[in-house]
Amino acid sequence: MMAIRIVQYLCPDRHCILAAAYDDRLNNGDEVQKQMQEFMNQNVFNKLCAICASDKLRFEDAPTKFATMDEAKPVLDELERLNMKTRVQLSILRSAASLN
Ligand SMILES: [Zn+2]
Repeated sequence: MMAIRIVQYLCPDRHCILAAAYDDRLNNGDEVQKQMQEFMNQNVFNKLCAICASDKLRFEDAPTKFATMDEAKPVLDELERLNMKTRVQLSILRSAASLN
């Protein structure tokens, strides 16, 4: 039984701008997307993919293999860690490029 779903805000190459996992027994996917959109409206967020610069961004709501948030948490934490690492590397590359 899979109850944990993930909503990702993606470019066509599937680079993820923002993601949120939710339990579909407790939350509604449309509501999660609405909250993510509000979060992006209230914060400074790229209107373009930071990796490929596409502006064709869209939400995707997909199941995960997890039945509970406790099961999903270690995997989600690891993905978040890797995403943070990529973000830092990108900003270092940008800074280096702007120095030239
Ligand atoms: Zn992209």
